[in-house]
Amino acid sequence: MTAASQSSPVPGAGDHAAAASAAFNAALEVIAAVEPRIAEATRAELADQRGSLKLIASENYASPAVLLTMGSWFSDKYAEGTVGHRFYAGCQNVDTVESLAAEHARELFGAPYAYVQPHSGIDANLVAFWSILAHRIESPALEKHAVKNVNELSEADWEELRHEFGNQRMLGMSLDAGGHLTHGFRPNISGKMFHQRSYGTDPETGLLDYDRVAAAAREFRPLVLIAGYSAYPRRVNFAKMREIADEVGATLMVDMAHFAGLVAGKVFTGDEDPVPFAHITTSTTHKSLRGPRGGLVLAQQEYADSVDRGCPMVLGGPLSHVMAAKAVAFAEARRPSFADYAQRIADNAQSLAEGFMSRGAKLVTDGTDNHLVLLDVSSFGLTGRQAESALLDAGVVTNRNSVPADRNGAWYTSGIRFGTPALTTRGFGKDEFDTVAELVVDVLSNTTPGTNKAGAPSKATYALADGVADRTKAISAELLDKHPLYPGIDLS
Ligand code: PLP
Repeated sequence: MTAASQSSPVPGAGDHAAAASAAFNAALEVIAAVEPRIAEATRAELADQRGSLKLIASENYASPAVLLTMGSWFSDKYAEGTVGHRFYAGCQNVDTVESLAAEHARELFGAPYAYVQPHSGIDANLVAFWSILAHRIESPALEKHAVKNVNELSEADWEELRHEFGNQRMLGMSLDAGGHLTHGFRPNISGKMFHQRSYGTDPETGLLDYDRVAAAAREFRPLVLIAGYSAYPRRVNFAKMREIADEVGATLMVDMAHFAGLVAGKVFTGDEDPVPFAHITTSTTHKSLRGPRGGLVLAQQEYADSVDRGCPMVLGGPLSHVMAAKAVAFAEARRPSFADYAQRIADNAQSLAEGFMSRGAKLVTDGTDNHLVLLDVSSFGLTGRQAESALLDAGVVTNRNSVPADRNGAWYTSGIRFGTPALTTRGFGKDEFDTVAELVVDVLSNTTPGTNKAGAPSKATYALADGVADRTKAISAELLDKHPLYPGIDLS
């Protein structure tokens, strides 16, 4: 690896692009011999990704090394259990892979313990919930009854313990303030397992108000205090969150699924780095962290044993091919060029936010200091659903999102969430993001809400003025051509 390829913003733009190109072409030829439609869909997906302005805050483009690592015979191996302690024979190579991925994760985040088996962010959170229940509820109960595991409990003691498992409390950020479904909301198992209460943001500023979080924690006394978000455009002070957790005897769990790349790249340091403050930190590996689709749990040592029991407690057998790709992605994230990438994610989000505000658009919290921007599209007279569809017509891929106290509910919403990690990977800089803001404002200013069949105002239909989609696509195409995705990879 040369210095030039290490500092390249675009994974795959290094010395090995020709080899990667040959590898993808060879793979598609082999796949096409069995099911050509899958090979075709795979080619089409690359063409779509290359040809659109991807602004979905949770997506990115993994490097060819990460993508190629997943296509291996590790996919064929069962390896339930943990390194050196498997329920299947012949796991020595999986042990190598899992140990390396965990070691890179520990080094990358400065964490005492790392568990790299979760298949996704939701699964990582399930492992964390289980681990907290095991550490805080099960272990003391076993100690009280002087037994080693639950099978040794009498029926009556087991019933009592089951009752306790099901009667714990969780406090997390509300959905319309930017929290995630897995933080105790009813459509997710967490909302069925735990009694849940949520904390919102200040109604005036949209900012997290730690005094309100503390007041809610004192009143509710949760077992689990969750920090972390999917759509909050600001940094969080995790030292303060830990103080609140300690005061009420809660376990602090931080879900850094969205901003793990900014932690890895040392954009979030000190009180903004969750890892030293949280008892358990969970993450995805595929968003700003730019790895394969997957999950990760980091923990303080006292939670390590219970986290380790994630499989088979709540997880199926580990995806060893994905753990291998996590090791590769974490190794990439440990390079100096990743810190540069992470800083550019944040700088570009600033530029996007300023681009919106200077053109009169309203942002939740009036700005951003992380990787995402939440645009309140009610100022354009639109719902999130209408705005999302009009933008897609113009080749701008985003997703609609609730804003605090959203009047349009969780389906239609009043917001559009934008993220900078993916286009930053392509090499977009501040000027390009200012142009993106200009394009978005142009599309939304030229979109009018429609009516339903009865002639009443609709939250879904809309009309985009003639010519706007074409002119947006033409300008986007220039930007995308200037910053090609996977340069050097040419599918024949
Ligand atoms: N946690 C947060 C904060 C998220 O934003 C997401 C995904 O959107 C998840 C967890 C779930 O991740 P996954 O889709 O990998 O299960």
